[in-house]
Amino acid sequence: MSLLRNVKFINAGYCSQVAAWTGISSWKWAKFHAVVVYFEHPTHGAFLIDTGYGEEFYGATKKFPYRIYRWLVPPTIDTEHCLAGSLKKAGIDPKQLDGVILSHFHPDHIAGLASLPKIPIHARIQPLEQLRKMRPMQQLHHGFIPGLFPSERDGDVVPIDEDRFRQCESKTTLTSQFSTFDYWGDESLTLVDLPGHALGHTGFLLNTEHGRKFYIVDAAWNVEVLLQGKQLPRIARRLQTGYDQYWKTQQLLKQFSDENSIELIACHCPRTQATVRSPE
Ligand SMILES: [Zn+2]
Repeated sequence: MSLLRNVKFINAGYCSQVAAWTGISSWKWAKFHAVVVYFEHPTHGAFLIDTGYGEEFYGATKKFPYRIYRWLVPPTIDTEHCLAGSLKKAGIDPKQLDGVILSHFHPDHIAGLASLPKIPIHARIQPLEQLRKMRPMQQLHHGFIPGLFPSERDGDVVPIDEDRFRQCESKTTLTSQFSTFDYWGDESLTLVDLPGHALGHTGFLLNTEHGRKFYIVDAAWNVEVLLQGKQLPRIARRLQTGYDQYWKTQQLLKQFSDENSIELIACHCPRTQATVRSPE
């Protein structure tokens, strides 16, 4: 078994929306930080999970209907609030990265791809192809902006095959209720299929030198809301690919969290900001 070292949660731009969309009782505007995860594996090297925002977002959302996405969740992206600026601040040289693993294809998770050098992009290829084949309005509905993952980068893609995700009979909620994939076969990084939020939405069980962490990405926008078993307001349910599936995933995650002492960390959750401010 290997352990991931130097795990860092880093903000890479943010967008704004009313906090009530996440299931809390507040109609104030809130910042939804696009968090990326950095880690080092003893043999596979330095990786990022997701890319957050990059200035490419503005070019890719210039035309209709993709511009509507910009209006729905207006982002703040500048030299400081973007992947390149955030990596620089964290002392991470993008040229030293050995790869990036994508959790799903929403803009706040892939819009920094253009600011990364030519490095392997580990991605679930089937959902990506499904999204690329859709009509523009359908792509918008799924929160997919094709210009953010141009075909020129396809040569860098390391495909994550759907067949590698397996559910097995076991006593633990994680492997019996979710389809999982021990990515490097050493239990350091387990990919967990967390359906409902977006096509190919993946969470990550990180086995780190400071214990296990479950990065559930966008399976919840607020972990507190998930743990309280509260449903999202109707308007926000429509932003999920399949709300019934999303809700089922949340209930299983709550069960998993109740049975195990593993912290759930969500990308846009306000609680994650404490980890961003005080890295281990
Ligand atoms: Zn998302």
